Amino acid sequence: MRRLVSFPVEWACGILISSVRKNGEPREERFELPFDGAVVEYWGQDYTPLAPLSVRISANYASDDIVTRVSLSGAFSLPCSRCLAETGIAIEGDMRYLFTLRDTVDAPDGDTDAIRLDGFRAELEMSPYIWETLILNLPEGALCKEDCKGLCPVCGRDRNARDCGCASDDSDPRLRVLKSLL
Ligand SMILES: [Zn+2]
Ligand SMILES: [Zn+2]
Repeated sequence: MRRLVSFPVEWACGILISSVRKNGEPREERFELPFDGAVVEYWGQDYTPLAPLSVRISANYASDDIVTRVSLSGAFSLPCSRCLAETGIAIEGDMRYLFTLRDTVDAPDGDTDAIRLDGFRAELEMSPYIWETLILNLPEGALCKEDCKGLCPVCGRDRNARDCGCASDDSDPRLRVLKSLL
């Protein structure tokens, strides 16, 4: 299985700078980005895409800089943190990036990242920023249900399916090891 730890090269999401007008409505582009069977790897685990990533990018000028806003939504599945059953999650992300040719940038506000361009270019390639917006909004874990009983620490069975009858000892496993040594 192909694992993505960065955006796939097939994601070409350029915003033509000449299409961004100095005054007026923000330039808006929409992308449906496929994963082509690859999974996203982050936090040391796999997130299986259940749908293409829906992305909306808007761009407008703020004096001589271009401010872009990346909004995205997606659906993934990942193993339940307690019982490991694949669990579907919906994610949303929203980040702002300011592109500038200036040497020094005043932080626009806490929610906007400033990116210094090293020279004039015709297009802003947004794939790295879409990727960043995606992974920063992936949850570290998920629960298949709020009261998931998890796997039995004694026999390893899924305690949601049936009660395995093992002595229920939910204490800290490290303490159990200590006890067994004493
Ligand atoms: Zn579970
Ligand atoms: Zn058990």
